[in-house]
Amino acid sequence: MVVGAGPAGTAAAITMAKAGLEVAILERGAKPGSKNVMGGILYNHYLEQIVGEDWKQAPLERPIIEERRWIMTPEAAISIDYKNLRNRAHPHSYSVLRARFDAWFAEQAEKAGATVVPETVVERLITRNGRVVGVGTGRGDDVYAEVTIVCEGIGLGAGLLESTVIDGRPLRRKLRPNEVAMAVKEIMQLDPGLIEERFNCEAGEGCTVECFGDSTMGMSGFMFIYTNRDTLSVGGGALLSEFNKTLRTPNDLMEHFKQHPAVKPLLRGAETVEYLAHLIPEGGYRGIPKVYGPGYLVCGDAAMLSNPVHREGSNLAMESGRLAGETIVHCKEAGDFSERRLAEYRGRLDHSWIMADMKKYDKAVPLLEHNPQLLTKDVQMLDRALDEFFRVDGTSKWDKQRRIFKMLRKEGLFRLGWDGLKSLWAMK
Ligand SMILES: Cc1cc2nc3c(=O)[nH]c(=O)nc-3n(C[C@H](O)[C@H](O)[C@H](O)COP(=O)(O)OP(=O)(O)OC[C@H]3O[C@@H](n4cnc5c(N)ncnc54)[C@H](O)[C@@H]3O)c2cc1C
Repeated sequence: MVVGAGPAGTAAAITMAKAGLEVAILERGAKPGSKNVMGGILYNHYLEQIVGEDWKQAPLERPIIEERRWIMTPEAAISIDYKNLRNRAHPHSYSVLRARFDAWFAEQAEKAGATVVPETVVERLITRNGRVVGVGTGRGDDVYAEVTIVCEGIGLGAGLLESTVIDGRPLRRKLRPNEVAMAVKEIMQLDPGLIEERFNCEAGEGCTVECFGDSTMGMSGFMFIYTNRDTLSVGGGALLSEFNKTLRTPNDLMEHFKQHPAVKPLLRGAETVEYLAHLIPEGGYRGIPKVYGPGYLVCGDAAMLSNPVHREGSNLAMESGRLAGETIVHCKEAGDFSERRLAEYRGRLDHSWIMADMKKYDKAVPLLEHNPQLLTKDVQMLDRALDEFFRVDGTSKWDKQRRIFKMLRKEGLFRLGWDGLKSLWAMK
């Protein structure tokens, strides 16, 4: 049985159903995806691994041809734009709207033989003799299974893992405010022609714009604009601890971003048709809970598997769901659902790119949290140096170089170098 029809749960269900196992996915939404939030850029490689060539039928919005990264101060945006024309023939990512994508993905699970049960809130995991044996639902039914795969994502309240205790311990400890980002997103309607004109895209093609620094009022996180067919996904987030500390709200962040002079013209005339908010796990490798135990496995966001530096989460969810599904298939073949056998899932995660990436970026979020100058003072210094460099104002280039060097020395050339080294060290 699977709890949650997000990318993780549905991937697990498809994998098991294709192998002939009897699978049910319990989903609280009226339809899978109806309330789910993502920026969102989806990576087709992982989808293809699960549904094969059928991935081409998925309701994808636009293939991403260009990736833009902007580092902002209040009056400037320093950008790195990468237009990769190879993506036309071989796209590896697409913008998606989860309400459409999740519903389609769940249909693939049904086609494979799984039963999708919407409008069903799982209220508790049922434990017997120290083992998860099923779930209690809001419909008043108890449902039993050999194994429950928990793919509930994360939310503000205590989820199933935090509220289930085995051997005197919760299955996941309470999340700390600096281990989760609070993210918001608006879907803004805009004519497809205008999208292509403003974002310099060919018809049907898309781009991403991700903005750091002043875009998040200096907090650790980033804002984004993703192009869909006839809408823009506009949003972003920052660590919950920083919202608490600064008393800012996600809405303050959104309004601040939308008013930035480099952003405002891109959104002119676009009408907000949906407003969504959600958490993103950012606890890194050290935040990962025990992902298997007696009678259960945990995948995706519920297992804290996400890489915010690369804006990846849906792919870690799908891949972990697939690995969990395959583990259960092996358990079924062996007729052994013991905890020792379920541990295969952790072993497979450990040997996959997922844990390699989780380890590599483990220190990235704390680096930004404890070094706010990286997204504020350092960027402002760079902005002033570039302003001097590009401004044509009757000053000789020698004098300009001297001024830039003097300014950098006065404001902390050593600190800038040290920050650079710390950043490299954190992501080595
Ligand atoms: C603003 C934002 C932007 C993002 N952008 C990107 C991006 O561009 N690319 C990317 O790859 N990732 C992105 N992510 C991350 C990505 O959305 C997640 O990593 C991914 O959705 C995790 O999938 P999941 O299946 O683990 O959880 P979820 O997608 O959260 O799915 C959980 C499912 O479980 C259901 N559920 C929860 N509790 C219960 C219950 N008690 N009973 C029954 N059902 C339940 C929910 O309704 C939901 O359907 C973004 C996230 C946010 C918030």
